[in-house]
Amino acid sequence: MPELPEVEVVRAVLAKELAGKKIKTVAITNGRTVGRHKTAKDFRAKVEGRAIKSVARLGRNLLISLDDTTTLVIDPGPTGQLLRAQGAKDAKPKHTQVVFTFTQGPELRLIDPNPTSEMYASERPADGEVVKLNKFVDRLALSEEGKGIRRAIPELAPLGMDPVIDQFGWDRLGIVMQVAKEPVHAVLKDERFLAGLGDVYASESLFTAGIQGHRSSETLSSIETRRLHRALIEVLSEALKTGGATVAPENWVDPDGKGGNYQSQLQVFGREGDPCTQCRTPITRVETKEYLSFYCERCQA
Ligand SMILES: [Zn+2]
Repeated sequence: MPELPEVEVVRAVLAKELAGKKIKTVAITNGRTVGRHKTAKDFRAKVEGRAIKSVARLGRNLLISLDDTTTLVIDPGPTGQLLRAQGAKDAKPKHTQVVFTFTQGPELRLIDPNPTSEMYASERPADGEVVKLNKFVDRLALSEEGKGIRRAIPELAPLGMDPVIDQFGWDRLGIVMQVAKEPVHAVLKDERFLAGLGDVYASESLFTAGIQGHRSSETLSSIETRRLHRALIEVLSEALKTGGATVAPENWVDPDGKGGNYQSQLQVFGREGDPCTQCRTPITRVETKEYLSFYCERCQA
């Protein structure tokens, strides 16, 4: 958390609030957040004084286009939150890592209790410079949009396929699963293969598809791959429609402090020991080095 649907909710709020505004100042409490730059001052020089053109998303990255060739990339990591100040006197929350002020409107703060979130200013490569894309994106993505984003922001070129932006059919998901040869749950959340999914939407999609996440990915039949693809699209679009999920322990909220609504529709995630919604078997929780999965032993083969 946040995963693709939650970052998309944040994107929509920021796009509405920030387009056309100028970044006045950026205050950085923890230099690690902008660790890709030599110094925090270098980072600030690239973004301060620039106007915001638009806000896009790829995977869990927020992409804020500035009025030159720079894109401000924000990756909230598993625990980062972007929150708008609720007025001039609103005290900074604990664990505030970065504060943006604008020529008008409230401050925007990045809050993260374990500083795993990061941001950087990416420069668009010169015309003619070749950017090597993630091999799955390069060969399998049906849409050009995500490829264009990766070419403009080379730091994101290694990122695997975004299920919403890159668009790929079940047969192409099947190729990824055949090549990966890892537990299906691990493949879903591994950003070398797919971008934007974490344990919540991996668990939910696998339940909807009736597949156990610890199975090795190359054992999926065509029918199972087709079911998994359909489940992914269904689960993500429902989560997007309902404003994302707010689940413990991070309890994600949007920049105005509002939680999502998808948590009430979760079938397995966070429901260890509770009866399965389909067959009443208690839900199992399994945690490995790579993933945390919730599933029904009976409904998922
Ligand atoms: Zn069940």
